[in-house]
Amino acid sequence: MKSIIYQRLLAAGLFGACLGGIGVVSAQAPATITSADMYLRLKKLNVLGTVLYVAAHPDDENSRLIAYMAKDRLYRTGYLSMTRGDGGQNLIGDEQGVELGLIRTQEMLAARRIDGADQFFARAFDFGFTKSTEEALKTWDKEKILSDVVWVIRKFQPDVIFTRFPPDSRAGHGHHSASAVLAQEAFTAAADPSRFPEQFKYGVKPWQARRLLWNGFNFNGGVIAASEDQVKVDVGVFNPILGKSYGEIAAESRTNHKSQGAALTPARGQSMEYFNLVAGDPAHGDPMENIVTTWSRVEGGEKISGMIDQLLKDFSLSHPEMSVPGLVTLYKAIGQLKDGYWKTQKLKEVQQLIEACSGLWLEAVVRTPYAVKGDSLAVTFVLNNRLNGGPMAVRGISLDDYDTAYRQQLEGDRNYSFSHTIYVSPKKAVTQPYWLAEEMSPGSFNVKDQRLIGDPQSGPAYEVKFRVAIAGEEMVFVRPVQYKFTDAVKGELYQPLTVLPPATAHFDPGLLLFTGKEEKSFWIEAKEHSAHAKLPGMQLTPTSGLTVQQRGGSAAAGFSWSAQPAGMAAQMVTAHLLFANDGRKDTALELKTISFDHIPRIDYFCPAVEKFVVADVKIAGHRIGYIEGAGDKVPQALQQMGYEVVLLKERDLTTANLKQFDAVLTGVRAYDVHDWLKDRHDILMDYVNEGGNLIVQYNRENLGRVSSDIGPYGFAVSNIRVTDEHARVNFLQPDHPVLNYPNKISDKDFEGWVQERGIYFAGQTDPAYQTVLSMNDPGEQEQKGSLVIAHYGKGTFVYTGLVFFRELPAGVPGAYRLMANIIALNQKKGF
Ligand SMILES: [Zn+2]
Repeated sequence: MKSIIYQRLLAAGLFGACLGGIGVVSAQAPATITSADMYLRLKKLNVLGTVLYVAAHPDDENSRLIAYMAKDRLYRTGYLSMTRGDGGQNLIGDEQGVELGLIRTQEMLAARRIDGADQFFARAFDFGFTKSTEEALKTWDKEKILSDVVWVIRKFQPDVIFTRFPPDSRAGHGHHSASAVLAQEAFTAAADPSRFPEQFKYGVKPWQARRLLWNGFNFNGGVIAASEDQVKVDVGVFNPILGKSYGEIAAESRTNHKSQGAALTPARGQSMEYFNLVAGDPAHGDPMENIVTTWSRVEGGEKISGMIDQLLKDFSLSHPEMSVPGLVTLYKAIGQLKDGYWKTQKLKEVQQLIEACSGLWLEAVVRTPYAVKGDSLAVTFVLNNRLNGGPMAVRGISLDDYDTAYRQQLEGDRNYSFSHTIYVSPKKAVTQPYWLAEEMSPGSFNVKDQRLIGDPQSGPAYEVKFRVAIAGEEMVFVRPVQYKFTDAVKGELYQPLTVLPPATAHFDPGLLLFTGKEEKSFWIEAKEHSAHAKLPGMQLTPTSGLTVQQRGGSAAAGFSWSAQPAGMAAQMVTAHLLFANDGRKDTALELKTISFDHIPRIDYFCPAVEKFVVADVKIAGHRIGYIEGAGDKVPQALQQMGYEVVLLKERDLTTANLKQFDAVLTGVRAYDVHDWLKDRHDILMDYVNEGGNLIVQYNRENLGRVSSDIGPYGFAVSNIRVTDEHARVNFLQPDHPVLNYPNKISDKDFEGWVQERGIYFAGQTDPAYQTVLSMNDPGEQEQKGSLVIAHYGKGTFVYTGLVFFRELPAGVPGAYRLMANIIALNQKKGF
């Protein structure tokens, strides 16, 4: 794991899921705010306390505790995750690496919209599973990530910090224990003016949280940190204002971690959380013991508290707008306090409450998902003072370099619509996420602008500022420009607006495998997005040792090219787009989109590149059936190797149909996502018995349980993995066909692997299984379950935890050669 480099990440995505800039901005339908929500927010105005939860990955957080802190105790609550979860598995698609991190970033934000907490991320890259705290800290660059944690603490100013994990091996994952180590060091460092003093010029000050608590939990069946004299709190309580218990809210929040299959069953009833003091002032009952969380912590704040009490007393559920004049008076009173953290925070909260109690509707929408550089964009602004809590007028609207004053009174419950067309400057940056704008380091992202660090995502492409006077007080309300449309099935949807270059390009396929010096052809689709761009052609720049030739085509139909390598080294081609109108030559970018219903659409760009892998791969067998699992790009790789690949659905798994295949492969976690596969077990075993070859890539279905649901003989899927991608691979049976036919496998074939060797190895295998490889992580026991093979009747069955789904798309030659041998197992008789 120590040598994960950007190029490898780039390589890992080359079957289409390329990297580069990725633009994600918040977009979702405006929230519905009920009077009950307003009442809760009004109560929150009187609470001046902050808590921060710290862990390593999206989905590590204790959703129940977070929901309870945010919505019951009404503290300002945040979750700081060291990583974006790039190295996890993906249950809902084939995205890996930073692409998965993008999905999980949005899943986190979707979760926070439910539980009401703020989200922060440090710059650490989730490079996959590691067993060692030291390795995590070293790969991440400890000082760099520590500075991020310190920065977030100084900005957010938590009274209490919680860690999810202990700082040692009990945490179960090196990232987990490392997050606890960092939280503990940052607890002290954030308060120390000599640590990271470069942050002070951005307005932060040293901050000492009162205590650091480890939120102990049930590790592997044994409760750690649970005794009666501990700090504890019941977070299972029911909140009648919300109509839910925090166990129910947590389930709703956590179920957004769909890529991890982390859905939770709603829980009702008492649920104790336990805390151990790690640093700071001891507490004996409540985590916030002896911490002042009222307005008395602010100079001159006592009178504010009284005003809020009065507003609470007078609040009308059926007429919240009656609170608007009082809220405006409160806003002015807070505005007169000395500048500080709570003044800023509470002014923001009061303004949001004034907006909610007025029923004020504000939006800025467009009818297209894209703003194209050099084109125009028509934006519609809509305002409605729905509850008319007081005299209201729009004074101005600004967007980009458009800034116009208005003197329009907003009568009650009337839609006021304005529109303006802006010019999208050719200098406007295409939509990119800030953490991917710079080339990344081996274990962390690079961000030049300190002020962006910790932010969950980039700001929107365009923002509109509405200047609105409410009861005489002018306030500025900011809205992103969003794409709004109505889908005939899903209804009205809001999506982010993406800034596009005038044209984009896409290589098909994105990776070509050469097994010799043969010529191969590929296709480039170019897409003109701008009304003005005309693309007469493309120019390709191959690395040396490769010749490319244009065969024909046009911008409308796509460009056809061919390539021929001179030697056996891997090659790459980048593309430029040539524009007719002004003779411009732009590096071709590819537009990629990730779309799921539970998160906003994610558009991102990467340089359009074609990758050429040259490898000596011989194959035996021709026709392959592939049962897709949770999502992987193995079928495209098999096609590149020269196989004919047929994707198989449930109805295709019949004895008669399977006969035609030389091998049948199951995609990653196929047995986890398709219950019907177990029902087809007999048919699959008949296929093997008759001379077929069933190859099962890793699953978790049989985790820890010996079963013959998958293979002909029993085995259990274990948690065993080898995470060091350089781990030495020993050949236990050097003469075994899988190491010899049709490709002679050697140590060289295990060079250049990415991220890891394998996961979820076979364990407790029936003696009928042959083990041919062994490997281990440093200092650990030798593991033999990465590739197990059994004869059954006339055929073979294979289970492999080797991560072909990572290595093949990354273009690792040895992985192609070994896969060819696994597929050929039933072609060679007599082993
Ligand atoms: Zn985790």
